[in-house]
Amino acid sequence: MNLETKIKEISRITPAFEKRLLILKIRTIKDLFYHFPHRYDDFSKITPIGDLKLGETTTVQGKIIEIKNIRLWRRKMVLTEAFIEDQTGLIKAVWFNQPFLLNSLKEGMSVSLSGKISFDKTLFLSNPAYERFDEKEALRHTGRLVPVYPETFGLTSRYLRYLIRLIFPYIQISDWLPEKIKKSQKLIGLDQALREIHFPSSKKLLEAARRRLAFDELFLIQIFLIRQKMKWRQNPSPQIPFDQPLIKNFVSRLPFELTGAQRRAAWEILQDLEKTKPMNRLLEGDVGSGKTVVAAIASLQVSENGWQTAFMAPTEILARQHFETLKKFFDRQSLKIALLTGQSGETNNGKSSKKEILEEIKNGEIRLIIGTHALIQKKVRFKNLALAIVDEQHRFGVEQRAALQKNIFAIKDGRPKTIPHLLSMTATPIPRTLALAFYGDLDLSLLDESPKNRKKIITKIVPLDKRQEAYDFVRQQIKTGRQVFVICPRIEASQEPKERKDEASETFNPTNKNTEARGMALNEGRRSDRRSRAGLAWEAESERPASRQNKNLSNKYSQAWAEVKAVKEEFEKLSKDIFPDLRVSMLHGRLAAEEKQKIMKDLLSRRIDILVSTSVIEIGVDVPNASLILIEDAERFGLAQLHQFRGRVGRSDHQSFCLLFSSSSSAATRLNALINCQNGFELAEKDLSLRGPGEFIGTRQSGLPDLSMASLTDVFLIKEAKKEAQKVLDLDPLLQKNFLLKNKLSNFQNEIHLE
Ligand code: ADP
Ligand code: MG
Repeated sequence: MNLETKIKEISRITPAFEKRLLILKIRTIKDLFYHFPHRYDDFSKITPIGDLKLGETTTVQGKIIEIKNIRLWRRKMVLTEAFIEDQTGLIKAVWFNQPFLLNSLKEGMSVSLSGKISFDKTLFLSNPAYERFDEKEALRHTGRLVPVYPETFGLTSRYLRYLIRLIFPYIQISDWLPEKIKKSQKLIGLDQALREIHFPSSKKLLEAARRRLAFDELFLIQIFLIRQKMKWRQNPSPQIPFDQPLIKNFVSRLPFELTGAQRRAAWEILQDLEKTKPMNRLLEGDVGSGKTVVAAIASLQVSENGWQTAFMAPTEILARQHFETLKKFFDRQSLKIALLTGQSGETNNGKSSKKEILEEIKNGEIRLIIGTHALIQKKVRFKNLALAIVDEQHRFGVEQRAALQKNIFAIKDGRPKTIPHLLSMTATPIPRTLALAFYGDLDLSLLDESPKNRKKIITKIVPLDKRQEAYDFVRQQIKTGRQVFVICPRIEASQEPKERKDEASETFNPTNKNTEARGMALNEGRRSDRRSRAGLAWEAESERPASRQNKNLSNKYSQAWAEVKAVKEEFEKLSKDIFPDLRVSMLHGRLAAEEKQKIMKDLLSRRIDILVSTSVIEIGVDVPNASLILIEDAERFGLAQLHQFRGRVGRSDHQSFCLLFSSSSSAATRLNALINCQNGFELAEKDLSLRGPGEFIGTRQSGLPDLSMASLTDVFLIKEAKKEAQKVLDLDPLLQKNFLLKNKLSNFQNEIHLE
C-alpha cells in the first residue's frame, strides 16, 4: 500500500463505505489522509473516578462491572447503563438509544470513556465516547486529542478515525519538501505531520503539524505564482498608444464629470497600455465609486487602435448591464460590441447567433466582447486580444483570471506571442499585503473618492413591530418616483457560509473535497440500526442506514431551491397583500436568461416599483433610480455582503436608505457596524475582528485559492513561503533539480485547480 492506493483496493472497506468516501472525493489513501479534521475534542485529561467533579469534561478508565439496557416505555427510548470501576471509585455511564452498545461493551472489559460529568442524584457520565482500553497508544476516540471530521453522508468521525488508524501502519510517506527549507523554517517531516494532524500526541505537535501542512500549501501556491510571473514576463504585449484627443472627447461627452480618482486611475492604465510589458493592475474602489467608466476608457483606447478587449463579469445579469452601459457610452463610435454569455449572444447592431459572434471574434470584426465565463471557453478564439478586464475579480478563481490570458504561453512561429494587458476590478478590500503576496507584482489603482453627487446612505435596523412603518416608507419612496429592492436570503439548514448556489449556472466553482464537506455537513442524526460486520463491528456500529444518504442528497437540492422559494413567498406576500396596487417583480438565478433580461430592462426603464430578489443582485447591479433596499433576515449575511447589497442604492443624487430586518439580537453588533460605517475598507476590518479571519476571507469572497489548511490571513507564513519559493526558483527556475517538488506541484495544481 502507498498513498496512491485506491480506496476500493482495500478489502476492509465495503462498497457501501467506498461510495460514501467517494462523495467526499476520497478516492485514494492520500485523499483520506488529506481529509483533515476540522476540530479536536480534548479528552486528554484522565481523572481517577474518585476525583471526578461535576461539569468537567474528562476521561475515565476502568473496568465494566455491570452493563445493561433499560427500556423506557413511556419515553420510547432505550437507556444503556454501565458501571465502571477503578481503584478510586465507581461511576455510572449512560447512553440513550444505543442498545447495540451491549455488543461491544461487556462486563469485565477495560474501557476508556470520555465525556461530561453530569449529576442526577449522583455523578454520572452522560453519553460518553467509548472504546476498549488495552494500551494507551491505541486509543483513538477517548483519552487524547480526538479528531473530529467534517462529517457527511453517513461517514462518522468514529469511522474515519478507525479507517485512518487502520491504514497508518502500512504507509510510509516520503517528503517532497527540500531538507534545507524544512530546516530553515523549522518544519516537521510530512510523515509525522500527517500522523499528528489526525492523531495529535500533544497540542504542541498538532500546531507543528498544522504549520507544516499549511506551509506546504502556501509554498506550492507561491511556486506556481512565481513561475507564472516568470513565464509572463517573457512575453511582450501590444503597445497601445495613448490618443489624448480621443479620450478627452469621450470624457467630455459623459453625463457626469469624472472624479479625481477616476482620472488618476484611467491615466495610470493608459500609461501601462503604452508599454510592451503586460499590465497587471487591480482597480480597487468601493461600491458605486465608478469603476465601469474607467474600464470603458481603457477599452475605448484599445478598440480604437484596432485591438480587441474582453470584459468578463461573474454573472449574466452584470455582463448584460455592462453591455448596455458600454453600448450607450460608445454610441458615437463605429465600434462593434458583442455580449457573450453561456445562454446567448448579442451585438450592438442586433441579435446574432453565438456562432456568428464567435466567427467575428475570430476574424477581429468584433472588438469589444463583454461576457461571463463563456469568454474563457476554448471555442472563443480572439484575433488580437490586447486587454482583458475582469470585473468583480474576487468572484473568479485564480485559474479563471489566468485563463483570460490563456494563450499567453503559446509560442507562435518560434516567437513568443503577445499577451493581453490585464485589468482586474474589485470592491472587496483585500488586505494589501495579502494581495501582493497572491497576485505577485500587481499594481494598484485606488478609487478612494466617490462621485460628488452622492449622499450618505441612511441605514437602520427595523424592529419587529415597526414592519408596517417600513412598508409605509416603501410606498412613500415609490410615490416620489424612486424604486425599491427587497432582498431575501436563502433559508439554510446549516449556518455554513453562503455558497452562492444561486449563480451556480454561471459560476464555475473550483471546489475541493473540504468545501463540499463543509457545505453539506448536515447530518448529525443519530444511529438507529446496527451493523455487525467482522472487523468493523466495533467502529461502525453507530453508522446510519443508507437511506440517510439519499435524504442528504435531496437536502442539497432542496437547499439550493430554498432561496428561490423564499423569494417567491416574499413576492406573493408583497404583490398580493401589501402592495397590490404597485408593480412588484421577482428575480432569482433560476429564471431563464430572457426573463432576467426583461426584468432588468423593466427595472431600468422604471416599469417596476419593487424588485424582490435573491443575492443575484449582490454585486455590480446599477440602478441609479433605486433609493431604498430592504434586507430580510439580515443577520444571515456577512458584513461585506451587506455592504455590497447596500451599494445597490445611493448610486445617484437621491437620498437613499437601507433597512435591515433582523430577528436576531446576537447579530446586533455586526449590523450596528454597518449602520455606523459607510466605508468598505473600515467595514472589512470590523468584519475581520468580529468574525475572525477564517470567515471573512472565505475563498468565495476573496477569490483566493481554496485551501484546506493554510489561513490566508497568516501573512507571516505567506511571506516566509514566498521567500523560500523565490530562493528555490532563483537557483532552479525549471525545477529540473527538484524532481519531487516538480511532481508535487503538478499534482497540487490539479487538486486546487490553479490551472
Ligand atoms: P462600481 O464602482 O460599483 O462598479 P459603477 O461603475 O457601476 O460603480 O458606477 C456607479 C454609478 O455611478 C453608475 O450609474 C455610473 O454611471 C455613475 N458614475 C460613475 N462615475 C460617476 C461620476 N464621476 N459622477 C457621477 N456619477 C458617476
Ligand atoms: Mg461594478
